[in-house]
Amino acid sequence: MNYSEVAAKYAELERISGRNEMTLVLAELLKETPKAELPPLVYMTQGKLRPDYEGVELGLAEKLALRAISTASGISADKVYAAYVKHGDIGTTAEDLLKTKNQGTLYSEGLTLKRVYDTLMKIAGQIGSGSVDAKLRELASLLNDASPLEAKFIMRTVTGELRLGVADYTVLDAAATAFLGGKQARPSVERAYNVHPDLGFVVQAVASKGSKGIQEVTVEVGVPIRPMLAERLSSAQAIVKKMGDKTVVAEYKLDGERLQIHKDGGKVKLFSRRLEVITGHYPDAGELVTKNVAAKKAILEAEVVAINEDTGEYLPFQELMHRRRKHGVDRAMADYPVALNFFDILFAGTADLTGKPYTFRRKKLEALVKVTERTRPVPALSTSDPAKMEVFMEEAIANGCEGLVVKDPDSPYRAGAREFAWIKLKREYRSELTDTIDLVIIGAFHGKGRRAGAYGTYLLATYDEKRAIFTSIAKVGTGFSDQDLEKIPKLLKPYESHVKPPGVESNMVPDVWFRPHLVIEIIAAELTLSPIHTAAIGRIRPGAGISLRFPKFTGKVRDDKSPEDATNVEEVISMYNRQLKKVGPAQ
Ligand code: ATP
Repeated sequence: MNYSEVAAKYAELERISGRNEMTLVLAELLKETPKAELPPLVYMTQGKLRPDYEGVELGLAEKLALRAISTASGISADKVYAAYVKHGDIGTTAEDLLKTKNQGTLYSEGLTLKRVYDTLMKIAGQIGSGSVDAKLRELASLLNDASPLEAKFIMRTVTGELRLGVADYTVLDAAATAFLGGKQARPSVERAYNVHPDLGFVVQAVASKGSKGIQEVTVEVGVPIRPMLAERLSSAQAIVKKMGDKTVVAEYKLDGERLQIHKDGGKVKLFSRRLEVITGHYPDAGELVTKNVAAKKAILEAEVVAINEDTGEYLPFQELMHRRRKHGVDRAMADYPVALNFFDILFAGTADLTGKPYTFRRKKLEALVKVTERTRPVPALSTSDPAKMEVFMEEAIANGCEGLVVKDPDSPYRAGAREFAWIKLKREYRSELTDTIDLVIIGAFHGKGRRAGAYGTYLLATYDEKRAIFTSIAKVGTGFSDQDLEKIPKLLKPYESHVKPPGVESNMVPDVWFRPHLVIEIIAAELTLSPIHTAAIGRIRPGAGISLRFPKFTGKVRDDKSPEDATNVEEVISMYNRQLKKVGPAQ
């Protein structure tokens, strides 16, 4: 497959924004692509090289990317930079400068999809000393053989800025359209993706084996499953009612980190909530699983919590973040020991348990997990009485939990779904109008006074899943400790951008832009309509977006969430509507 065909389709995709049209264009591209090349094509169309859970990172620094354009075009670094500032986008800069260079000449042929993909993989794989030069060489040589249009998309891909707006579910729709006769077949493709979240693999399975291929995709030890998520309600009574006035299972909601644990004999692999491999953060958790889970092969879910060894008390979530250090995990293990509270089991022995009702899975969990000081099934209470649930909630909070997660005993494990089969109940739902929300930092404003020389305020965004972009929702300047003020800029540094990053929609222009990466937790007094912010624009009232009143940083950096996992526009809208129900519409 020639890369020029791919680039031409990307240009087409870029021009359209309607999802239906996008699906059709993408479906055509999938059909034209040889089956063996479908996985690379699918990953690259989303600006990736491999499924997220494998952690292959693109995202070449801006500076290096500009150097490569200069080398390939023979145009001075200063001029390249000036063009970049003018265009505000690395892809268009490359396209424009290569056009100038190549005017009247023919581009050498033969840039194939495979060559582009292999080179990008090589670039991503370069680490350590000498890697900068090696990356530069590889990229410049690719650009040398690229047409201006190809160069545009190569540069955007390599810097992690290819945002064609192709969301996961657009790919699923396109695969169903291309190979199963239409979008109506999407649920079966989606099911496969939820239990095996590798879009390249799933699309190839549909393309080569049709609906049979898709049915054969099952839960596999070693491949993460998209997590089941919880809805929220504000009282025990409302929860019992919502679940049909029957006996439900209320469980402690621990304030730790979610772990998806894959046990294969003596080997244990841990995935985070966003499906990154985090085995290295918790070698001790691995050991606890090997010793205390009586199944050769299993997939389990647990909340890992930091504990005070002397008192056995649970410590807040922040304490776990010491585990994210690159070095010194041994030290962190000694200083911040952990306990595992298991709350689900999805596979045991040779059996996929995701289709079984929750009561069955919980029984299995109780049979297989040994109760020790550091391991146990999470405390649970079966009841249909809201009053008993309230008492259990107080007990949970007294024991250092955030509240409860209440589960429908008859529900299967719905991978990737946020539904009312799991409902969370937290204390703050009562005192505040809104729950905490997780937002993405997209910009910052320089500080004044005590914060001179640092950032004083951050611009935050929510993820608009339907449009696959980040939309601004608020500015936040309170809640930051001195430590946070020092730490957060460091975390953001690699994502700094001189221009508004692609995929970001904001009318407000900060002093510094950041590519969407870092997620922080915010609490606010209420959600309000806003003429400036673009979150949910036009969804509640024409021309108005949604913003936050009195936003405050809670102190939590949500390293365990990817920007796409941040609170999304649909959630913000439903929180806004729920809030209206409580207080009545604004006058
Ligand atoms: P939050 O920010 O409230 O943790 P979230 O968006 O990370 O929410 P949700 O699905 O909304 O995820 O809430 C469920 C989360 O609660 C799980 O991801 C898990 O980390 C945590 N949790 C704690 N105890 C339990 C439990 N007993 N059952 C399920 N999840 C639990």
